[in-house]
Amino acid sequence: MATEAPARLKRKRKSTKIKKKNGFKKFWRLGMEEFNTGAFEISKDGELVAREGNYQYNIYDIVKKYGSPTEIFFPTVIEHRARDLIETFNAYIKILGYKGRYHYHYPMKVNQNREFVLPAVAEGANLDIASANELYLVKRMLEQEKFHSKMRVICNGPKTARYMELIEELNGKGLIVIPIIEDRVELERMQKFKGPVGIRVDININVKGHWNKKFNRFGFTETELLELGKIRNLTVLHYNISSQTEQINGFIEPLKRALQLFAKMKTKNPGLDTIDMGGGAGVPYNKYKKFYSAKNLIQKIIKTAKVQSDALGIKHPNLITEWGRYVMAPAQITIYRVTAEKLVQNKGGYKWYIVDGSFMNDLTDTWALKQKWHVIPVNGLAHPKLEKVWFAGSSCDSDDKYTHGGLYVSVPKLSDHDELYVAFLDTGAYQDSLSSHHCLLSSPLKLMAANGEVKVVRKRETPEEVGKQFGW
Ligand SMILES: *Cc1c(COP(=O)(O)O)cnc(C)c1O
Repeated sequence: MATEAPARLKRKRKSTKIKKKNGFKKFWRLGMEEFNTGAFEISKDGELVAREGNYQYNIYDIVKKYGSPTEIFFPTVIEHRARDLIETFNAYIKILGYKGRYHYHYPMKVNQNREFVLPAVAEGANLDIASANELYLVKRMLEQEKFHSKMRVICNGPKTARYMELIEELNGKGLIVIPIIEDRVELERMQKFKGPVGIRVDININVKGHWNKKFNRFGFTETELLELGKIRNLTVLHYNISSQTEQINGFIEPLKRALQLFAKMKTKNPGLDTIDMGGGAGVPYNKYKKFYSAKNLIQKIIKTAKVQSDALGIKHPNLITEWGRYVMAPAQITIYRVTAEKLVQNKGGYKWYIVDGSFMNDLTDTWALKQKWHVIPVNGLAHPKLEKVWFAGSSCDSDDKYTHGGLYVSVPKLSDHDELYVAFLDTGAYQDSLSSHHCLLSSPLKLMAANGEVKVVRKRETPEEVGKQFGW
């Protein structure tokens, strides 16, 4: 009897020790490459730390210094991912004996912030442009001799008169601009264009993911393209199926179809030498679900392109991808402070945790698409007492909330801490240009963390600045 109790106690103590040693890292899904959290750790005080090589940033210290809501972005993440993407494609091209070349085009619409675009360009990204205004920024960089004149620019989206003028102007200056023809009006106008052009096909195929619409308004149907016959200066066959494509097959099936179409179109268009697969590579936003790796995806793409081209008896086409979300999303985190708590009525003990920013404004996809995010406490990470919460934004709108799809998010109990901050991971793609000013709330402060230093790149908006945007 006397020996039993201490033995049990001992065992118990040992198990808490193991948990402590891992610092709850696994529980919060940190330090796991498959969830894009390889760079995150927990400090011995239970605070969120981000690593950049052998530098590290204590996120809690940063928000205490700069306040919230705050976005922190890491340009080295963009550099790393863009470089890795290009190198992986090139590696499999070599290993599998593929004869075409690979070009990465960063789709600027995913995040147009200068501080995000330039690191991708520095690693060899070409660009994919969606509007006249985006192209105008490219023009300015060229004029300042900041961009190499060999950079290739694909121009997607409807070509307004202004957009077309810019395309022609830059083409005249020797830049490789490749307008992608969207419709018959553009086809007609492109008859006079003195440069390579692409054309977009709406491949009639279903893949898993929010953006693969049953009714698509972009490009021509496969039948239409075959009826068009010869298209002047045609070099690129382009398609864009979806974004955040959920399965590798969602890339492989459309590629097979595109290759068949490519082979048929090539008989009348011998200059056609490139397939642009568009965007779609996804990010593991959902920490409860495993996601494919880019390496696996790229290997399967090259293999498919090789096997299919050989079967069709065509020269291996050059390949383009315009993967934006994949490169940009993990480069930024958004941090809010929990300012108050309330009971969620009729929801068994769940709490509303009210934050000092707005999901509708700052992370618009939360509202628009029911986007799921990987949410991590910034402090109190080693604290075992957790609460099941739904987050409420600080606008007066009942849709300004984050419930993880009606489930819940676990975070430390607010009452156990003097203050509590939470970080939403992977917020670097799409949110900035979609963001708005509901209730005239200010946009978050934007910080850049690079080379061990933290810098303000967008100040927190003052009431004057916000008012000015509305004519005050
Ligand atoms: C939006 C878009 C992309 C980027 O898609 P991701 O899913 O972010 O990779 C690429 N190409 C075109 C034409 C697009 O419209």
